[in-house]
Amino acid sequence: MRRITHLLVLLFSAAVLVSPAASAPVRIARPERLAVNAPRPLNQRRAASAFRSHRITHPTRNQAATTSLRGRPTPVPPTPESRATTPTPVPHPFTDPVPILMYHYIRPLPGPEDPIGRGLSVDPESFRAQLHWLATHGYTPITLSELAAIRQGTLPAPAKPVVLTFDDGYRDFYENAWPLLRSYGFHATVFVITGFLDTPRYLTWDMVRELDRSGLVEIGGHTVHHVDLTQASDKDLVQELTDCQRALSEALGHSVVSFAYPAGKFDSRVEAATAQAGYRIAVTTQPGWSGAADDWLALPRLRVRGEMSLAEFTALLTATR
Ligand SMILES: [Zn+2]
Repeated sequence: MRRITHLLVLLFSAAVLVSPAASAPVRIARPERLAVNAPRPLNQRRAASAFRSHRITHPTRNQAATTSLRGRPTPVPPTPESRATTPTPVPHPFTDPVPILMYHYIRPLPGPEDPIGRGLSVDPESFRAQLHWLATHGYTPITLSELAAIRQGTLPAPAKPVVLTFDDGYRDFYENAWPLLRSYGFHATVFVITGFLDTPRYLTWDMVRELDRSGLVEIGGHTVHHVDLTQASDKDLVQELTDCQRALSEALGHSVVSFAYPAGKFDSRVEAATAQAGYRIAVTTQPGWSGAADDWLALPRLRVRGEMSLAEFTALLTATR
């Protein structure tokens, strides 16, 4: 009897030991949870939306343009488990040619008595149609400093990048172009002649500050008096470049990196002085798309002429280059 009782006690103890209630809890890995934080490759749409959230930031003087540009999407650190299976997307320098469009006035076309002014003007309705075409055909207008950043791979390349530039800082940019650009959320670069600001046909300093603060418009330099820099003395050359940079830096609270040569006139002396004055990117009036191997201080542009039809405008962007 005692043996039987002893056997029963042993059996009972063994049953307790193997029962689930008495065993240590077992954690079951849930791979689907581990994947939640894993970064997914950026497709074009996500890259574009990351780009849209980019705001123009500005470097201190002499700081390289591309190192100053924020706007990369906040990286999500991969978990150790996901790192092995999901590679983190790495931005690549963008090498496709990019069109840089050149505008001056956005205003009703002057009459035939002013052929030069007429050629430099795009009427607001045509401009609206051009922006609508860009929007409906998947283009992403960017600033020049953003172009520098996507070239270096520090900003994801958006879908179909195009740069819209406006020379001379005419007041009609603020009155006619800016409301349209803002409604589309389009970025643009405006080159101002600092000595002409606050005069009747040109932007005011308040407008320039407002545009800069918008995060959509990059302000670039265009000298103090719009002189032909190739004909300027060494002293005047330096003054036109540095006084423009200084005035803009003081008004905006940051230096500017982009510059347009008045009337597109430049040479190696002008280029060197431009770099010395703190500009990192400069545009000319030489026609063409901007390639990845271009000289950053001599980028070509595509002129949008006053009487250009929408078909001619679209041909500018879609023609073989
Ligand atoms: Zn000009």
